[in-house]
Amino acid sequence: MEHETCIGVLGGGQLGRMLSLEARRMGFQVIMWTGGDNSGAARLADHTITEPFNSQQAFQLFTTTAHCATVEFENIPSTLIDKVSTTIPIMPSSKAISICQDREKEKTFLRSKNIPTTAFQIVTSAETLQLALEKIPGDVILKTLRDGYDGKGQLLIKQNNNRPSASELWNTFGNHNAILEKRINLKSELSVICARSQDGQTIAYDPAENEHRNHILDISIVPARISDTLTSQAKQIAEEITTALDYIGVLAVEFFVDQDDNLLVNEIAPRPHNSGHHTIDACETSQFEQQVRAVTGLPLGSTRLIQPAVMLNLLGDIWLDPTTPPDWTPIHTTPGAKLHLYGKNHAKPGRKMGHITFTAPTIQTAIQNAEKIKQTYNIGTT
Ligand code: ADP
Ligand code: MG
Repeated sequence: MEHETCIGVLGGGQLGRMLSLEARRMGFQVIMWTGGDNSGAARLADHTITEPFNSQQAFQLFTTTAHCATVEFENIPSTLIDKVSTTIPIMPSSKAISICQDREKEKTFLRSKNIPTTAFQIVTSAETLQLALEKIPGDVILKTLRDGYDGKGQLLIKQNNNRPSASELWNTFGNHNAILEKRINLKSELSVICARSQDGQTIAYDPAENEHRNHILDISIVPARISDTLTSQAKQIAEEITTALDYIGVLAVEFFVDQDDNLLVNEIAPRPHNSGHHTIDACETSQFEQQVRAVTGLPLGSTRLIQPAVMLNLLGDIWLDPTTPPDWTPIHTTPGAKLHLYGKNHAKPGRKMGHITFTAPTIQTAIQNAEKIKQTYNIGTT
């Protein structure tokens, strides 16, 4: 494709913002259809549509302006993704996105490829929940099949004597279609960002080691502190999944590592991922550049990690009030620290407002620098 090519992005969050920055640097145009929000993300696109996703007029504008399309948020209505795909190429395909939008389809797909996941049961009523609880002993997690993110739509159910009845649990959860998963005693969590080009070239980044707080990603450590065997296994599984989905673009595979060093796939995100933000400052090619390359038909770039890196998420909790950020001086004076802010105009607890990447000659130094900043801003003390 030529350089006047316009990339259409469905969604309007920070992933779209960082994608726009890379696309525009590379000489492409971006049209972003946010479906409502006129956020900081959308302000960086060449063209922005804020109309709802069911607007025919917006559909017309989007598909006549963009030469190709991608998603920055997987919970875009699948009817819209299908409809876009009949007019312009959408990458990844609507089929790949629909698998990743639904935990049942996702796990069934993984199982069909002999890729290990947690034990699970589909739940649609108090009765099926009761049966599922009998089939999966121990602590379990009930999750909505669709539309969950950052731990939203999840209920931890502990195995103990005062466990509420299945119908009480089902009422608390709300009547959704759900999946019951065995809760894994985690040794660690990993993710692998993987890209695939239009001619089928596949390339994976080194795994990130992820630490969550309240089910939201807190920090990512790269390289992960795991064995070489686990590193290559995780990359291999991610590449296998990418190829099996006939995928074009960037995806992220989230893994659980259990106490016996078994890798279990948790979920697949059909887009660049929060745990890949370090690639902007620490890798030869960022995950967003890789996405731009894939959707515009360019060859992929090297995923080489140039320096060890730690990524720390900045949530709205540390804002002084919804519109006043804290003083960033301590970050600007930390060697190797890069502040990224997403331009969102209203901070809320738990809302991702930005991140910091700490690069250093050793991963220990990067971790120490991140820990110091966490203390400075009281991150993780509550
Ligand atoms: P989300 O779509 O919100 O990212 P996840 O399924 O990835 O949903 O869950 C978020 C986090 O919750 C995981 O990264 C992990 O820390 C924890 N978690 C989820 N499922 C399990 C599980 N089966 N066992 C242990 N921890 C889990
Ligand atoms: Mg997740």
